[in-house]
Amino acid sequence: MKREEAEAKFVRGAKERFATLWEWGEEHPEATFDEIVGKLSQERRALMGEMLGEMLLQQGDGRYEEVACPEWGTKTQSNGRRTRTIVHAEGEVKVKRAHRLCPDCGHGIFPPGPPSSVDRAK
Ligand SMILES: [Zn+2]
Repeated sequence: MKREEAEAKFVRGAKERFATLWEWGEEHPEATFDEIVGKLSQERRALMGEMLGEMLLQQGDGRYEEVACPEWGTKTQSNGRRTRTIVHAEGEVKVKRAHRLCPDCGHGIFPPGPPSSVDRAK
């Protein structure tokens, strides 16, 4: 994704989050400080999760390193792409990554490298 598209998507997301928070604030005038912070944190994590995904995509074109099975040392084989949800304090993101399989023991592994695509985590 080009910078302009990513920036427009981020700004659109920030506006959506602002509207959600503002409306929630109007609907919950009695909310405690902790409830407000909890809601704010939820929306921040959603927005930053999206940004995290964009930044992961900046790292490359989805090419990955060949990896051997950590138990048998056997050369692993392609097992297509799998979705992996990354949960981090800053946000959640679903990334689609290459997946490898050991033909000897069936051990599955995500090789090091950037994802091929990202999605909203929810
Ligand atoms: Zn193995």
